[in-house]
Amino acid sequence: MKKYSLHIVWLYPDLMSTYGDRGNIITLEKRLIWRDIEVSTQMLSINDDPQLLKKADFIFMGGAQDREQTIVAKDFERGKAHVLHQLIEEDIPGLYICGAYQFLGKYYKEADGTEIKGLGILDLYTENPGNLPRLIGNTLINTNFMESENNLVGFENHGGRTYLGNNIKPLGKIVKGYGNNGTDSTEGAIYKNSFGSYFHGPILPKNPYFADHLLTLSLQKKYQEDISLSQLDDSVEMKAHQAIVSRLSRGV
Ligand code: GLN
Repeated sequence: MKKYSLHIVWLYPDLMSTYGDRGNIITLEKRLIWRDIEVSTQMLSINDDPQLLKKADFIFMGGAQDREQTIVAKDFERGKAHVLHQLIEEDIPGLYICGAYQFLGKYYKEADGTEIKGLGILDLYTENPGNLPRLIGNTLINTNFMESENNLVGFENHGGRTYLGNNIKPLGKIVKGYGNNGTDSTEGAIYKNSFGSYFHGPILPKNPYFADHLLTLSLQKKYQEDISLSQLDDSVEMKAHQAIVSRLSRGV
């Protein structure tokens, strides 16, 4: 039996997982296995028992198009919204990408004006104005929530523009790209141990230290002790990271 273990719950993998979001799960699993930490991943989707979510030490949910978000919104109302709200308030760490991030806010208004109700956990809302281009491309932000590093790279593709309220901090500040809305230089949001971002790509393989930040939070929350992860050889991951940084600095 291993000293530590983590249970990951992956919400709606069949409906909400675009532009490589699945790579985030692979990254988290591998980085635990390489350190001899036990990991189990449970996929939960439409009609699955919301109570299973309560076993999560870490929650992941990826992006989707509006059609899938509409389907998921109905299922959330059948119990998962309530449990997820509870877990986020209890500091259970999680990563929510694009459409999932939009869900955590008050609402997402589609281009035709249809409103998809959000869970109302985070002080933010999202609207697709309908008459503006989608926000697409590689992105770089400066951050200040991690001890080891101070930037993240990703790939964004969204029509919705997200606006943060006063009670929420952004994940970072845009260096290159669009982020939350293309106008206020913010990207993503942090609330307790939950992280929302527009970064597909996927985000974690190209920012391995962010993956470790999330894993450390999850282990510390579960075991209530100061746990520091052993160092891994991230030279390949950092080459992928640097490739995006240098491409963006050359204006490509
Ligand atoms: N449907 C949302 C938008 O376009 C989310 C897109 C996504 O998750 N990639 O804004």
